[in-house]
Amino acid sequence: MAKFTPEETSIAPEVLAKYEPVIGLEVHVQLLTRTKIFCGCSTRFGDPPNTNVCPVCLGLPGTLPVLNKRAVEMAMRASLALNCTVHEHSRFARKNYFYPDLPKGYQISQYESPLATGGWLEVGGAIRRIGITRLHLEEDAAKNLHEGFAQSTQKTYIDYNRCGTPLSEIVSEPDMRTPEEAYAYLTTLRQILLYTGVSDCNMEEGSLRCDANVSVRQRGSKEFGTKVEVKNLNSFRYLQKALEYEIDRHIGVLESGGRISQETRLWNQAESHTVSMRSKEKAHDYRYFPEPDLLPVHVSAAWRDEILRTLPELPEAKRARFVSSYDITPYDAEVLTTSRTLADYFEAVVKAGAPGKAAANWMQTELLRGLKDSGKEINASPVAPAALAELVKLVESAKITGAIGKKVFATMFESGRGAAEIIAAEGLGAQVSAAAIEQAAREIIAKDPANVAKFKAGNEGVFKFFVGQVMKATRGQASPQAVSDILRKLLF
Ligand code: ADP
Ligand code: ZN
Ligand code: MG
Repeated sequence: MAKFTPEETSIAPEVLAKYEPVIGLEVHVQLLTRTKIFCGCSTRFGDPPNTNVCPVCLGLPGTLPVLNKRAVEMAMRASLALNCTVHEHSRFARKNYFYPDLPKGYQISQYESPLATGGWLEVGGAIRRIGITRLHLEEDAAKNLHEGFAQSTQKTYIDYNRCGTPLSEIVSEPDMRTPEEAYAYLTTLRQILLYTGVSDCNMEEGSLRCDANVSVRQRGSKEFGTKVEVKNLNSFRYLQKALEYEIDRHIGVLESGGRISQETRLWNQAESHTVSMRSKEKAHDYRYFPEPDLLPVHVSAAWRDEILRTLPELPEAKRARFVSSYDITPYDAEVLTTSRTLADYFEAVVKAGAPGKAAANWMQTELLRGLKDSGKEINASPVAPAALAELVKLVESAKITGAIGKKVFATMFESGRGAAEIIAAEGLGAQVSAAAIEQAAREIIAKDPANVAKFKAGNEGVFKFFVGQVMKATRGQASPQAVSDILRKLLF
């Protein structure tokens, strides 16, 4: 059979429009604990291979697992932040399969009785609610290394450091309808996990991994089509591209009278397509059974409430509060809540006396650009919130112009000095003499009797226009306050 690529079929838009994609995601996150889920070995990333191992995580006979309470707490934090019900009792199960990365021959996971179920998160500015089926605890497997060795051609090396690392699997309902929505879900989920400190969500280090389930159906149909699971999606962009590819492939197959077979496929980034990996395994293939070596997990109401109390304000709530209390747009709020540190910085600038909207504007332009260009994180910003507030206030009260303010900001960012100090040292406060302003103002007024008449008839808007004209004539170097004072004097 010829290999299918969407380019070859170039499905017509009206054909694409007949179908509706259905997407559900299964996300694995590494929980931020110091030690593994069933032993005391370190979870540190990047240590030399097989140095963080012990008889328990190597699966040696006669050892017994002991559950890491911190891992349960982290999973509870995630569950509560995702509006799930955390069950009083949940249970571990053995998921049996044979693979070199799994020394015991089974993975300890949760199956029939997961830690939490029935949650949701909101995407697209709280417009779409995506259901979360379940969140459970499990251990990670080891890492197989195939490359980078002297005689690498036939050998696979195994690093067991990762074996036994605590994970939560978060399974969504099949509620997403476009690749963009899946992307938004994953972005939102990641943001919530970062806000709550549950995971560092570092995709390169494997602490956030995503498998996508996708099917298509005729629009209006109530039933779902046959789904395919796509693995190996180790970036947000790959997720979106793989889904786009799969949706086109499904439609192509169905349109040509074929059927989709339920299978697991791998995304191949180099060739921008998916390839069949195996037919979909069924639950019974894993011979799940309750883990006899661990007690059921018991979460008391008191423990749950205690975790709930320690949850921070979540991104969506923060955005809503920013919009209503600081008079900024939903877009501003979205940018400023990208991370908790950025949001905290913004609130510190406002607390130091800068008006919300102005603070938001300065942060989104000068500050974020400065940070990006210098490769710095917000918590390493050379301009502290109070220093930015000082500058914003100087511009807002028209002590200096916006143009000068930008120059001052650049110097602040480079030197870490304060705005007032820079303005005084560089004589930026009064670059244009009152006489020069007055001359420019007189010329502009003389040339524009029509607008002068409008102003005299009570049109205040025209005054702003005149201020702008004089500022332009003085190349933005005059103090707006002085310009305004002089114009008032001349126009009355
Ligand atoms: P399986 O038994 O194959 O593991 P599940 O019902 O547990 O399937 O669902 C696994 C994931 O696939 C979930 O994220 C779910 O939302 C999603 N899913 C289920 N059915 C479909 C479908 N027809 N199309 C797309 N995604 C689906
Ligand atoms: Zn160990
Ligand atoms: Mg399943």
